[in-house]
Amino acid sequence: MEWGFTRFSKKHFLHLSLGLLVGCWNIQSVVAQSAKDSIFMAQIVAEALNNGHSYKQLGALCKEVGPRLSGSDNAEKGVQWAQQMLSSYGFDSVYTQPVMVPRWERGTEDRVTLLSQNLSELYKYLSENDYNCETYNEAHPKPNPLGIYGLECPALGGSVGGSVLGPLVVVNSERELDSLGGLGQLLGRVVLLNRPFEKDFINTFAAYSSCVTQRVNGAPLCAKYGATGVLVRSMSHRCDLHAHTGVTHYQAGIDSIPIAAVATGVADLLDWLYRQQWEPAQIEMQLGCQTLPDRMSANSIAETRGREFPNKIIAFGGHFDSWDEGEGAHDDGAGCMHTFEALRLLKTLGYQPRHTLRCVWWINEENGLKGALKYAELCANEGQQHIAALESDRGGFVPRGFGLDSSLLALIKPYQPWLAAYGFGELTLGGGGADVGPLKRQDPSVGLVGFIPDSQRYFDVHHAETDVFENVNRRELELGAAAVACMIYLLDQTLD
Ligand SMILES: [Zn+2]
Repeated sequence: MEWGFTRFSKKHFLHLSLGLLVGCWNIQSVVAQSAKDSIFMAQIVAEALNNGHSYKQLGALCKEVGPRLSGSDNAEKGVQWAQQMLSSYGFDSVYTQPVMVPRWERGTEDRVTLLSQNLSELYKYLSENDYNCETYNEAHPKPNPLGIYGLECPALGGSVGGSVLGPLVVVNSERELDSLGGLGQLLGRVVLLNRPFEKDFINTFAAYSSCVTQRVNGAPLCAKYGATGVLVRSMSHRCDLHAHTGVTHYQAGIDSIPIAAVATGVADLLDWLYRQQWEPAQIEMQLGCQTLPDRMSANSIAETRGREFPNKIIAFGGHFDSWDEGEGAHDDGAGCMHTFEALRLLKTLGYQPRHTLRCVWWINEENGLKGALKYAELCANEGQQHIAALESDRGGFVPRGFGLDSSLLALIKPYQPWLAAYGFGELTLGGGGADVGPLKRQDPSVGLVGFIPDSQRYFDVHHAETDVFENVNRRELELGAAAVACMIYLLDQTLD
C-alpha cells in the first residue's frame, strides 16, 4: 500500500504541477504550492479509503436510528445520536441549533384498493405478456403486483387523511388533465397522474424536475376539477413495485383531497386497465395521515475554528431528516456523512484551516426547510459571514464533480486536473442546493457549491423503502467524502 501511494503522489504531482506552471511568472512558489496541495489531497483520498468513518457511521445512523421524518420521535432520537457521535471526535465545537418543525404523521392503516370486475383479465394480461418491469425479472417472476385487494400506496407527505371512493381516471400529461377536467369528466373521480420520467435525460435530476409538479401540486390540479382523490406515479425511471413518497402541497381556496404515491409497475397496470375502456375500475382510498402541531427539533453542527480568519465561515452539509419509507440512507444520510467525514479527514490529517470550517446537518429539508431558514436567520442576526457553502444532497454514489457559482468556478478551475485524477473533476456552472439557498438569498456574495455524484441510480431509491444502508456502496460513499474534503480544502486555501 505504501509503495503504491508514494508512486501515485509523484506522478500526480508532476502532471498537475505542469498545468499550473503555464503562463506563470512566479514558478518557484507555484511549484511549492502545487506540491503541497497535490500531496495533501492524495493524503485525504488515501485516509478516506483506508481508514474512513463515513460508512460505519452511516450504518449506525440507518440501523440504530432509522428513518428521521421531521417532527417524529425518531428524528429527535437522531438529533441526540448526532450530538453524541459528533462530540466523540473532539472537534472544536459541537452544538445544536433549535428550530420548530412541522409534524405530519402517516396513518397506521393506510389502504388503497382497486375494485374491478376485470381483475382476472388484468392477471391474464400479466401472465401472457412480457411485462417490462424489472421487479418481475428478479426473484419473483410473476408476483401479484396488485396485492390481493390492497395496493402499496403510501400517502404523500402532507396529505390530508380521509376515505374516498371513485372511478379511476388515468392521465399522462397536464394537458390531458385539463382537457378532461374542462369536460367535467373528473368530477367525483380518483385521478392517477401518470406522467413518466423521460428516459433520455442523461442527468436524471432533469427528468425529476420535469415530472415532480404532478406530485407537489397534484392535489389542487385535480381537486379544482372536482376529483375526490389522487394517485401519483412514483418519481422513478425504474419499473418496480416500490412506491416513492415525497412532499405535496395544497392551495388555498381549493379542496384538500387525499393524495398517495403508486409504484411505477402498478401505475403501468392501472393505465393498461383504464385504456381497455371496460366497466371503469373503482379506487377506494383510506388514508389515516394527519398534521399535528409543530414541534421543536434542531440542526446539528460541528466545526473547526480557522487560524487566520476565524470569523469567516465555510459551511458544508446535508439534511438530517428523511422520509419514513426507508432509512434515508442516500437521501440524505450520505450527504451528512460526506460532510462530517470531510471535517474529520482534515482534522485527522492535522490540517489547520485558515477559515472556520463548519459541518451543518440541517433538519426538515424534505417538508418545510425550517432548519435551513433558521440557520440563515441566526447567522444574519449574529453577523456571521459565510464565504462559501457546499451542499451534498444527491446520494452516496460515485463522485463526478461539483457545480459552482461563477466566482468559485473561476477560482477552482485551475485545480480541475487534480480533482479529475480521482474521477471527480467535472466542474460546472451553478451550485448549491435547497439548504444553502437561504444563505445566498440573504447575502448574494456567498459562493455556493453543490456536490455532484453519478445520478443514474438515485431515483431507484429516492423516497422509497429501498433507500436503506444495504443499497449504499462503501467505496462510492468514501470517495464522495474524499471529494468533499478536497473541495473544502481548496476553498479554504484559495478564498480570502
Ligand atoms: Zn434530500
